Amino acid sequence: MAPVAKRPPGTQDILPADRPYWEALEAAARDQALRFGYQRIETPIYETTDLFVRGVGEGTDIVSKEMYSFSDRGGRSLTLRPEGTAPIVRAYFDAGMQVEPQPVRLFYIGPFFRAERPQAGRFHQFYQFGIETIGDASPLLDVEAIVLGWNWFAGLDIAGVTLHLNSIGDEVCRPAYRQLLREYFRPYLAELSETSRARFEKNPLRLFDSKDPQDERLKHNAPRIVDHLCGPCAEAFHVVKEGLAAQEIAFELNPNLVRGLDYYTRTVFEYQHESLGGAQNSLGGGGRYDGLAAALGYRPTPGVGFAMGMERTAIVLKQSKPLTPLIPEVYAIALEASDELYVFRLASTLRARGYGVIFDPGLARLDAKLRKAAKRGARVALLVGPEEREKKQIVIRDMHSKTQTSVAERELLSTVVQMLGAR
Ligand code: AMP
Repeated sequence: MAPVAKRPPGTQDILPADRPYWEALEAAARDQALRFGYQRIETPIYETTDLFVRGVGEGTDIVSKEMYSFSDRGGRSLTLRPEGTAPIVRAYFDAGMQVEPQPVRLFYIGPFFRAERPQAGRFHQFYQFGIETIGDASPLLDVEAIVLGWNWFAGLDIAGVTLHLNSIGDEVCRPAYRQLLREYFRPYLAELSETSRARFEKNPLRLFDSKDPQDERLKHNAPRIVDHLCGPCAEAFHVVKEGLAAQEIAFELNPNLVRGLDYYTRTVFEYQHESLGGAQNSLGGGGRYDGLAAALGYRPTPGVGFAMGMERTAIVLKQSKPLTPLIPEVYAIALEASDELYVFRLASTLRARGYGVIFDPGLARLDAKLRKAAKRGARVALLVGPEEREKKQIVIRDMHSKTQTSVAERELLSTVVQMLGAR
């Protein structure tokens, strides 16, 4: 009979062999976040659909075609979270964080869901590490977010990351720029790709998201928003660039970087990596979202943050340095069924002292069990047969040198300490 179920498309199992990379990513995320004073927050995996419709924006790809929405038993529409910022802004107000000292610095690590066409580096369920700084509009907080992200990659020894930077203005300067873009593209409408033609009316900034070669030349010559920023937006962008230069972080000004979510204002940035290639070359990105709180119906409150893709960063980390899972050093073998409980107890004694011990139950030939111990990467094997048990002795085998000695039970710990060091 065939198995009833397969892994759903666009999902993946994070197997033990992958785990060391994920743990390294998470440890580095916690480490960097805490150094900058960010505290961890977990919001639910699902929210009311309206949160994303109003926060992320109706015209965005995420809301228009990538959400996993469903009705609960009361007929309320819920959605598996496609992104973390709108939920965290909601949580900020729900928990009354607006009355705490500002800004509030939060970070998260968890799964997100988007019904995009699966391909290498793109999944239906994926994990992000993200930060949000809410309640202060200082452009130096944009710099802080960018530096924190940059340090995350550096702390993981990931080389080859390029920082792309742009400003997309705010509600003061963006409407006029949008108009300017429409005027620029209008004569070429027939030459644009179908997707871009659709974006032309709804949100012409998104024309820059097009990966279509046919749109490239037009994009290249289009007016750049950084040349049309209002005074305050231009000043903020200047501070961001100065701040990054002072931190000696190189960036590429990328007028094509607009990002797909409606809530961004002013600074937007993305970390790209050459080895990922193609459309999926972004490891993470973020920006300022001073209009989001108001779009969600709260008091206008500025914010800035980023989200990093854990799967893509794990792929890059794997390419740069091999990591192996932590494995127990000691392998405990009973030669006969009557010795098993005795060996089980020895294993417990060593674990209580901080050693990792694998207990091997069941009867098998000694050489087969030793082969298993070697395969598991054990450094020391404990062997007990009826003779040893009677004399309260244990054979301790050094798996590397393949030599073994017999010790009394009370010498077990000191011998293991001698061989492996204290724990
Ligand atoms: P975004 O929230 O779209 O800015 O995404 C931030 C980062 O999350 C991206 O740079 C990717 O690394 C990662 N990401 C976004 N969507 C997916 C997906 N469908 N599968 C895997 N990673 C994703």
